[in-house]
Amino acid sequence: MLAYQHAYHAGNLADVHKHALLAEALAYLVQKPKPLHYLDTHAGRGVYDLAGAEARKTGEAEAGIRRLADWFDPGHPYRTAMEDVARRHGPDAYPGSPAIAAGLLRDMDEMTLVERHPGEIEHLRDALPGAKILAEDGWQAAKSLTPPEPRRGLMLVDPSYELAEDFERVLSLVTMVRRKWPVGVLMVWYPILSTGAHAGMTRALRAQEGSTAFSEVSFPPAREGHRLIGSGLFVVNPPWGWAEWANALEVRFANLIRDR
Ligand code: SAM
Repeated sequence: MLAYQHAYHAGNLADVHKHALLAEALAYLVQKPKPLHYLDTHAGRGVYDLAGAEARKTGEAEAGIRRLADWFDPGHPYRTAMEDVARRHGPDAYPGSPAIAAGLLRDMDEMTLVERHPGEIEHLRDALPGAKILAEDGWQAAKSLTPPEPRRGLMLVDPSYELAEDFERVLSLVTMVRRKWPVGVLMVWYPILSTGAHAGMTRALRAQEGSTAFSEVSFPPAREGHRLIGSGLFVVNPPWGWAEWANALEVRFANLIRDR
């Protein structure tokens, strides 16, 4: 069993980047009166406790969403997700990707969450009772779930990249999803690492043809020597508005670095 637990990192600068854009994309997609399917291949525990021991140990949420919440105006779907979760789970609760999606989806929509870590699955079941949760390998599940029904939808791929092979797996997954589900919105998060370990994968993603987009932001490492120095999102079939949302956030992050 791999060791990664998102509770140590929830609400960090990478989450702010990923979750704000995920919320905007889903909020846009649900405007159309047609059902959609949200798939999350590496779902995590759904709701995180920013006052918990894990979050306090790293201080990443303090340097992240705790400091930057006012970037998001009332009515911004990410802010609304945070307010909803705080109302339901307490003031220190923070929504992971499944809770963000659950808050935005309508009764007509489908949601499938995949998570492999038993402890995280238990938390996820408590956080989102009644949600469809598959206790499986996310890479395998992506294959069996593609294409989903209904065909309209968004798949978030947010692995922990604990294994070097995860970068290769992302590339295979992107090829598979684009072949079997050409209309799907596919959103892949990746770390920007001081070691450059992500660079081969991003080069290959940039060579992808068709309707694709990126958003990348840089930020100071959480600790001296910490390798995570930025956050990236690759999107296939980006929703209308993506460039504008991404650009607004990228400017915020650039100012954060400048004003340090
Ligand atoms: N998407 C979540 C969010 O934004 O709130 C965070 C996900 S976290 C970065 C990655 C998750 O993948 C962890 O909860 C980890 O337990 C899980 N995981 C690791 N390997 C997996 C696998 N092979 N299949 C499914 N989940 C896996």
